[in-house]
Amino acid sequence: MEKSISQFDAYEYRGAGLQQIIRSLALVLGIDEETVSKELSPDKISLLVETLSLEESPFIEKNLRKYLGPMLRTFSAQKRLFFTNILKRLRNPRRTVGLNKPSNGFYNQLICNIRKKLNLTPSLWSGKKSVICITYDIDNSPAYEYIKEIMNINERYGIVGTFNFVTHYDYKIEKRLIQFLTAGGCEIGLHGYFHDIGLAYRKKNKIKERLSWAINKIPCEVKGFRSPALSVSRALFEVLTEIGIEYDSSLQVTIPFYKSVGASFPYLYPGLHLWEIPLTIQDDTFFRDANLNEREALELLLSVIEDITNFGGVSVINLHPNIMKDKRWFYNNFLNYLKNNSRYRLCTMYDLVKNMRERMAK
Ligand SMILES: [Zn+2]
Repeated sequence: MEKSISQFDAYEYRGAGLQQIIRSLALVLGIDEETVSKELSPDKISLLVETLSLEESPFIEKNLRKYLGPMLRTFSAQKRLFFTNILKRLRNPRRTVGLNKPSNGFYNQLICNIRKKLNLTPSLWSGKKSVICITYDIDNSPAYEYIKEIMNINERYGIVGTFNFVTHYDYKIEKRLIQFLTAGGCEIGLHGYFHDIGLAYRKKNKIKERLSWAINKIPCEVKGFRSPALSVSRALFEVLTEIGIEYDSSLQVTIPFYKSVGASFPYLYPGLHLWEIPLTIQDDTFFRDANLNEREALELLLSVIEDITNFGGVSVINLHPNIMKDKRWFYNNFLNYLKNNSRYRLCTMYDLVKNMRERMAK
């Protein structure tokens, strides 16, 4: 029987993605691609392409987001938060959160199994056991207004982070602030045009138009992207590569309401010239979805980081300055813990991409 067009496309797509998956694994394991491919059965490869690439949200939620997004834009930040909270509650009515453990992720386990079989020790990250990247999504004006204070606190603990901005919402990005952040070693990333929670589900030309406008509005070079409310689609990822974005961090690992890619390492997104650096966890999971107090949230966060550190992976922690404003105990104690722990390399997201490229060149 002849293959249908969609079957053929899927086949081609898998073929294109395969080499990138093998390369990504080889870089993390510190061995050549040929040795990696010997460890992968066709079944495993199919499963890898499936878990590492995206799966769109269910139809109802997708459409809800698409139509609610523009409406939310007209609301005040406070009112908007109220509505997005309701959306989250619909998905999680009992407010309990069972996180996916990173060490149970398929990709992470595969790496551990290959290491064990070939007797490899985990590669270090500039001499450190694991990597921690802190990102800040600047969703609204309360978040924007608190950036300076975040920088004051960070300076005390020697922390650099990646700040992701939306360009057409309720705050104006000042060039002076961007210069202040980059002079302090921080990175600037893009978080969308406005905080459109259905961005990924719009027509590709619309996504491209909006994101092109957005990227031009930021007065410095931008290499990274995180999608508002983590909405993702193939069209969105294609647009990212077309407008010069080099990495995305919208796929995630631990939060049970979204698909987990099960990978706590940067990888080349199958079939595209784009690095994916999966998000590990974010503050609203602790404080909004699970309603934890600051001490419980810190304990949970540190246990997730410990789990990833045990296999030498990368933890991407996303915080919202407007949330941290009221969680100062949590924030200060988290940074203090990082400052006093020598096992971690703390860096920006793009530094990590550069690190992977250096591995490639070797
Ligand atoms: Zn956001």
